[in-house]
Amino acid sequence: MAVKIPRVYPQEQDPKVRSTNFEEVCYGFTSEEAILEASRCLDCKNPRCVQACPVNVQIPAFIRELKKGDVEAAAAVIARDSALPAICGRVCPQETQCEGSCVLGIKGEAVSIGKLERYTADTMRAMGKKVKVEVQPSNGHKVAVIGSGPAGLACAGELATRGYTVKIFEALHTAGGVLSYGIPEFRLPKEKVVVAEIQNVKDLGVEIETNVIVGRTVTIDSLMEEDGYEAVFVGSGAGLPNFMGIEGENLNGVVSANEFLTRANLMHAYQSDADTPIYVGHRVVVVGGGNVAMDAARTAKRLGADVTVVYRRTEKELPARVEEVHHAMEEGINFSFLTNPTAIHGDEKGFVTSITCVKMELGEPDEGGRRRPMVIEGSQHDIDADVVIMSLGTSPNPLIKMTTPGLETGRRGTLTATADGATTREGVFAGGDAVTGAATVILAMGAGRRAAAAIDAYIQEKNK
Ligand code: FAD
Ligand code: SF4
Repeated sequence: MAVKIPRVYPQEQDPKVRSTNFEEVCYGFTSEEAILEASRCLDCKNPRCVQACPVNVQIPAFIRELKKGDVEAAAAVIARDSALPAICGRVCPQETQCEGSCVLGIKGEAVSIGKLERYTADTMRAMGKKVKVEVQPSNGHKVAVIGSGPAGLACAGELATRGYTVKIFEALHTAGGVLSYGIPEFRLPKEKVVVAEIQNVKDLGVEIETNVIVGRTVTIDSLMEEDGYEAVFVGSGAGLPNFMGIEGENLNGVVSANEFLTRANLMHAYQSDADTPIYVGHRVVVVGGGNVAMDAARTAKRLGADVTVVYRRTEKELPARVEEVHHAMEEGINFSFLTNPTAIHGDEKGFVTSITCVKMELGEPDEGGRRRPMVIEGSQHDIDADVVIMSLGTSPNPLIKMTTPGLETGRRGTLTATADGATTREGVFAGGDAVTGAATVILAMGAGRRAAAAIDAYIQEKNK
């Protein structure tokens, strides 16, 4: 019976209206919608969705509580595995994780797990309620965490509940990592969601000190040898943008997606009274096809530009979340698939005027199984542009490696670490994008929690 109920979709802002503002696109479920959607869950005996969630949220169990209308009980179930449910419910790539394994998705549409998780967290906040998390009494041991993104927050939160005194050192003036400086307001509201979920971590006793660059202001050695930290977790992310190395990348108007989004989000350049300048021009070309590219394109559109995303494979291979691509298309972003830039051109003052591209076709699969894009001879063409936003992935900043003897990195500058986060330096653990390279919020969170358990075991063993 339950299978016959079609998937419930929450209301969204009209694409024409929302492409001119920074308010959240999706309104989320009403109580009636949430209960109806929850009723679609088959409560499988062997729930594949739980295995497919990187932190194994007990999905059928929390949905069971929602079916009864008990939001508090549902939130308590989620809190056992995830400290950031309002964030994950909004930004996890559910179609390849939990929802991608939902049995209902085989013949029809998966249960809207992410939106139900978001509903649970949002409703708790609206009711002014918090899940009570048990915090062990202080065990007298101190741990330092570098970076306040999802990896650092998850590690710090978990350690605090185990009785540790934890301090996060954050280079920027605001906590949250990519959640604050990268993902735009229209996808992840800052005050309402990010600040609120960071507060939940602070409520566990975690201290966050901003404006501290580890490697400059302090070092890992000074934290451990002078300040008494027995272990350090490095969750410093992968914030260093990659470029293509093509002609014209130094022209005025060529910018990395990270810089563009940081100006817009963290420095509020989209607000008319902000001091931070942002140059958008009239015709923007975004190079790349990931979530970062979609965010940059949709931000530029909201700032008034005509935007084209240039991607060297087809729509099918776009790495961005399906929902974000769909929203970008609805908002009028143009896509030029199987297209790759070869040079950027400028005027006599050094400002971008156009970008030369070639058309591509997909050849044989490469080592990773993805079909390799190959240039079609004679397909060279120009696209007019005054701003080119490069969104070609990011690498970890080398500062921490350079200032920490014994810390080894791999080929792409990522920190070498075991699955539990142990690095090549005793007492130093790492996780999230700093180890994997640019990945996802939930993977970073999972890595932070695993490392917390390993740090706990390490300190207990050392103090036996
Ligand atoms: P980060 O979030 O990068 O946090 C690292 C923190 O460490 C930063 O605050 C940084 O300032 C700080 N730091 C760095 N060096 C130092 C230092 N030396 N001293 C002190 N502090 C330091 N993932 C999804 O799952 N879904 C999405 O929809 C999605 N969209 C994205 C959109 C954008 C624009 C971007 C950039 C990423 C997106 N991601 C998305 C990826 C996701 O945000 C990251 O994988 C995740 O944030 C990684 O978490 P982290 O904690 O490892 O690093
Ligand atoms: Fe799905 Fe992410 Fe929630 Fe896990 S945390 S159940 S992957 S939305």
